[in-house]
Amino acid sequence: MLVSCSICGKRDATVIAVIEGVSLEVCDECAKLGRVSKRIAEKKVVKKTKPVPLRREVEESIVLDFAGKIKSVREKNGMTQEDFAKTLNEKLSVMKHVENGNLVPSLKLARKIEDKFGIQLIEEQGEVGGGGASFGASEKATLGDLIEIKRRKK
Ligand SMILES: [Zn+2]
Repeated sequence: MLVSCSICGKRDATVIAVIEGVSLEVCDECAKLGRVSKRIAEKKVVKKTKPVPLRREVEESIVLDFAGKIKSVREKNGMTQEDFAKTLNEKLSVMKHVENGNLVPSLKLARKIEDKFGIQLIEEQGEVGGGGASFGASEKATLGDLIEIKRRKK
């Protein structure tokens, strides 16, 4: 439903302008004849924003013994670290650090390992320390942050 310009009738009216004392729905061009009083709410291009998933109430975190679990599932599958890294499309160096426990895998990586090898690496935690103020933005936490948190728990 488009309103066409009251003056030229050629273009869609985009603003309400006061022209010679009369409020008219006009296009941008014709609006120059008077004073724009307000923009007409855009009806046509309603940007579709992605539905924002409801924020999870629970924090997801990597289990503390991820390194052991990953190593054992890899060995159970008779894979070398290299095979394992390849299967997961990860860098060998990353997987080495993960197995050594030096690097906490990202949730994405952990999920990938869970899916492929059927082990549990992610645990859901309730409220972290009263609202989880220190760890509220878990989605944005970097690996560094996660490692920090892990160290603190020790
Ligand atoms: Zn016009």
